[in-house]
Amino acid sequence: MAATAVCPECDAEIEVAGVEVGEIVPCGECGADLEVVSVEPVTLALAPEEGEDWGE
Ligand SMILES: [Zn+2]
Repeated sequence: MAATAVCPECDAEIEVAGVEVGEIVPCGECGADLEVVSVEPVTLALAPEEGEDWGE
């Protein structure tokens, strides 16, 4: 079951077959980390930046 979604950052089409909600997929065009927020249809959103060190 092929599926594509559009990168919200650069509008590139990304293959997202078999992904699940909450999964992070990288955009092959701009390299952004995209979170799968819906699967019917597949919708991508920019994943929040990993902020492991909260600066101290
Ligand atoms: Zn992109």
